[in-house]
Amino acid sequence: MDLDLLDERLRDLGQPRFRGGQVWAWAARAVDGYGAMTDLPVALRDRLDAEVPFSSLELTHEAHAKDGTVKALFRTRRDGRPVEAVLMRYRDGRRSLCLSSQSGCPLTCTFCATGQMKFGRNLTASEILDQALHFRRRPGTGGREADAGRMDHAVFMGMGEPLMNLDAVMVACRRLPDLGITNRRTAISTVGWVPGIDRLAQSDLPVRLALSLHAADDALRSEIMPVNDRYPLADVLAACERFYDRKRRRIFVEYVMLKGVNDRYEQALALAELLDRRRFKVNLIPYNPTGMYDGSSREAIAAFRAVLEEHGLDATVRLTRGRDIDAACGQLAAKAAA
Ligand code: SAH
Repeated sequence: MDLDLLDERLRDLGQPRFRGGQVWAWAARAVDGYGAMTDLPVALRDRLDAEVPFSSLELTHEAHAKDGTVKALFRTRRDGRPVEAVLMRYRDGRRSLCLSSQSGCPLTCTFCATGQMKFGRNLTASEILDQALHFRRRPGTGGREADAGRMDHAVFMGMGEPLMNLDAVMVACRRLPDLGITNRRTAISTVGWVPGIDRLAQSDLPVRLALSLHAADDALRSEIMPVNDRYPLADVLAACERFYDRKRRRIFVEYVMLKGVNDRYEQALALAELLDRRRFKVNLIPYNPTGMYDGSSREAIAAFRAVLEEHGLDATVRLTRGRDIDAACGQLAAKAAA
C-alpha cells in the first residue's frame, strides 16, 4: 500500500506510532486485506480499508509460463501507468523477483522493449514493494505449496533505470528483507549511470551491482545504448571499480548476445581485455527477440563464453525464462500499449 498515505492517515486518526509497523508486518506476511490484521482495532481496520487502498497497484494481466515463471502487468492506482514484475522459479528452489523501478524508461537502448515505450515516471518505494507483495500473496501456484509465497532473491531488471530513481529503490531495499529478500541477495542493474553507482557505493546497503555493458567499444555501445554518449565506457568502468574497491563485491556484467552485432571473436577478446577479472564476472544473455535484432545462436554464445574463460574471466550464460510469455524487459507492457 502507499506507505506515506498510510502514515498520514494514521496520524490524522491520532493513532500511536507503532500502528504503521503493525500494518506493514501483516502485509509482509502476505495477508490479503486489513480485515486480517487482528491486533488492530476493528474500527481502525474499517477506516483503513475505506481510505488507504491495500495496494498502490492494480493487476491488469498475469501470464504463466510452462517453466513456472509468472509475469504480472499492473497499472498504478494513482495515474494508471503500466508496471511489470516477474517471479522466476528455478529447479534448485531459488525464487527470484524481477522488479521495475520506473514506468517506461527515459533511456533508449535499441534492443530493449521498454526503451521503445514512452517514459512515464519514477515509481514510488511503495509501488516497488507492491510488486513484490503481489507475488507474496499470489504466487501463481493456487497457493497449494506450503511455501507458496516464499521469495529469496530480487533483481532490479524490470522496467526503468533504477539508478535514476535511487532514493525510492533504496527505501524499497530496506524493506525487502521483511519479505525474505536480504540486501546481499538483491541486485541493482544499471546502464552505467555513474552518479548513481557512486552513491550506491557510498551507501551502507550491501546490494550487488550489475552493469549492462553489451559492447566493449564506445562506437558500438553508443549505437545500441545512446546513454553511452553521456557516460562513456571508461567512466562507467572506473565507477564500477570504485564500487568494487569499496564494497568488495564483484560486479556482474550483463552482455546481451546480438547476432552479427556484438558476438564476434574479436569482440570477445576486446571484452576480456577490458574487464579486470578480479572485479567483474560476465553473464551472457540470450536475446529475447523484440524485433530489432536476431539473437546469437546457442553455439555462438558458447564460443564467445569460451574465449572469455580462456582469458581468465568468469562467464556464465543466463538461463532463459518465460520466453513463451513475453517476460523480457518491457515486452508485456509494450504489447498492451500497442
Ligand atoms: N536499466 C537497467 C535495468 C533494466 S534492463 C539496465 O539496463 O541494466 C535489465 C537487463 O535486461 C539489462 O541488462 C538489459 O540490457 C536486458 N534486456 C533488455 N531487453 C532485453 C531483451 N530483449 N533480451 C535480453 N535482455 C534484455
